Amino acid sequence: MTIILGLESSCDETAAALVTGEREILSHKLAGQEEAHRPYGGVVPEIAARAHVEVMTPLVAAALDEAKIELDRVDAIAATAGPGLIGGVMVGLMTGKALALAADKPLIAVNHLEGHALSPRLTDPDLEFPYLLLLVSGGHCQILRVEGVGTYRRLATTIDDAAGEAFDKTAKALGLGFPGGPAVERAAKDGDPKAVPLPRPLTGSREPHFSFSGLKAAVLRAQQSGDYAAEDIAASLQAAVIDCLIDRLEMQLEAHPDIETLVIAGGVAANNALRERLAALGEQAGVRLVAPPPWLCTDN
Ligand code: AMP
Ligand code: MG
Repeated sequence: MTIILGLESSCDETAAALVTGEREILSHKLAGQEEAHRPYGGVVPEIAARAHVEVMTPLVAAALDEAKIELDRVDAIAATAGPGLIGGVMVGLMTGKALALAADKPLIAVNHLEGHALSPRLTDPDLEFPYLLLLVSGGHCQILRVEGVGTYRRLATTIDDAAGEAFDKTAKALGLGFPGGPAVERAAKDGDPKAVPLPRPLTGSREPHFSFSGLKAAVLRAQQSGDYAAEDIAASLQAAVIDCLIDRLEMQLEAHPDIETLVIAGGVAANNALRERLAALGEQAGVRLVAPPPWLCTDN
């Protein structure tokens, strides 16, 4: 049985896990940094890097402990090598290199987005290639065609901000707290999604991409106008982002009729309103929707 020790530290979550070649998760340890960043209303890269340093080694020990496995028994060490906040990436990657050198194991440098693209296969053994992946996080917004391990085609990306960034800055403008996405979703429950006339950038465009920076600006103007309740702005922003995501996905599903499975990943995939719309889209397009459990949608 092949066993890999995986390390992740590209943003504000530190993680260590042991996974087998049969895609079984033997142990999984995760440390968040929400409290450290909360006073600033966003992730501060230098604070993030220092927090990774403090917990990475204990997390590795805890992951080995939980699985009752010695480092010697591990076949390789994998670590996120980017993209991400560089100070944080260095902590996980250097820890991985040091462990690999000390234990005489190979090091596998992992692209962070590739991790998101493949991790849904850990909880859905029936997930077959090829599938379409909607990757929506705080730093990325992409649609990928996943052909197999190591073979990906990026079909669409954001030309400015990520979808999660639109949620985070909306929360900041409305004073809803940090982290922003869940706070906007909570506020949106009591709001009217049609209250604020927000744009749906690039929808209907033949260009396949996303754009969210104009939406961020429109939210700020709506808030400054004093004409709208925070709940209505939150609900309207959430509806606008979801409309954009669905429109771009519809375009790709039409262009790729052989695709039978749609997978969502990234932090924004935790959004329940988005999951409902994606389920409806899946039914309408005749594709199976695979939404990994929220704990596997984050940076672990
Ligand atoms: P990640 O970059 O994958 O770690 O995911 C973090 C991003 O997901 C942040 O931008 C969060 O605001 C966003 N996010 C998390 N939960 C939700 C949610 N329930 N609704 C919308 N966005 C969310
Ligand atoms: Mg991520």
